[in-house]
Amino acid sequence: MPAPTCASCQAARAALRRPRSGQALCGACFCAAFEAEVLHTVQRGRLLPPGAVVAVGASGGKDSTVLAHVLRALAPRLDITLHLVAVDEGISGYRDAALAAVRSQAASWELPLTIVAYADLFGGWTMDAVARSTAGSGRSRSCCTFCGVLRRRALEEGARRVGATHIVTGHNADDMAETVLMNFLRGDAGRLARGGGLGSAGEGGALPRCRPLQLASQKEVVLYAHFRRLRYFSRECSFAPEAFRGHARQLLKLLEAARPSAVLDLVHSAERLALVPAARPPRPGTCSRCGALASRALCQACALLDGLNRGRPRLAIGKGRRGLDEELEDAGPGPESRGSGSAAAESKAIPAAPPVPLGTGEGGGRAGAWEL
Ligand code: SF4
Repeated sequence: MPAPTCASCQAARAALRRPRSGQALCGACFCAAFEAEVLHTVQRGRLLPPGAVVAVGASGGKDSTVLAHVLRALAPRLDITLHLVAVDEGISGYRDAALAAVRSQAASWELPLTIVAYADLFGGWTMDAVARSTAGSGRSRSCCTFCGVLRRRALEEGARRVGATHIVTGHNADDMAETVLMNFLRGDAGRLARGGGLGSAGEGGALPRCRPLQLASQKEVVLYAHFRRLRYFSRECSFAPEAFRGHARQLLKLLEAARPSAVLDLVHSAERLALVPAARPPRPGTCSRCGALASRALCQACALLDGLNRGRPRLAIGKGRRGLDEELEDAGPGPESRGSGSAAAESKAIPAAPPVPLGTGEGGGRAGAWEL
């Protein structure tokens, strides 16, 4: 059967049916509709005001590639300036190749690029070193927990270095639905309460963040990249198979097969979620070490680095976090004020970082792509 005529231009042959609406469109009309929807998301949510200097979290993967390409096309209408910021987590055989893709995109799109590395920001720790430290005798299952928290901070630091006023990340609707599912499965009311909406306004001195692709399905992101002939890096991170996110992704696929609207339903349910006062997380204070937003004595990044530096990497994960809090209470003020001699003071220095709210824990996005 020949392809139908494009429902939009009524001239070209349709090249696809939109996964959600079933509308038959040619490639050019689909890309125009996709860009218009992202523009609508940004304008309706007032995510990026005119004059904003926007740090685009760039990983070389499909989501951040599509995000950067769409925002570059929309930049004149939005009156924004773009700057790519990439994070080098120090994952051998993976991130080096992905960064090569980012460099090539930056060159061909004539966008400035800044790369920040975990090793420089976090006292020499790379993800390869974290994996060795957390693995014990087997494979580490907690790499993404560390990586998600540290990358959020690294991106904030990179964005500040380039003078950005806003941060955007490439999370799509499937990423967000997976995160909602993961938070439900863990019973994490605090993250569920924080996870809705299209971004965060920038509490506690942190830069405002948003996710302009949050309502775009992963299938359409891939289709857009295909029709715009975008080249991106698609290899999976070597630590991804161990991530809890993979289970949420499988579950989501099953749900979507039974109910095609499951992805967006989950995204919208998180936006509308309202917790009774007793279930709401306490208002965050500040980290006693770096000044970032924190609901406990140490923010999540400082707590994770503290555990690594003490040779007890699980100290800040799950129930171990309770033990860390008790130790900190017993120890009194932070290590800086205790001088040398304390366990923390003898460990590698944890560099001071600007205030950053830390939220999504195990990555904010797909394993294998960027999880900011
Ligand atoms: Fe980091 Fe993603 Fe790799 Fe996990 S899968 S270690 S979050 S890059």
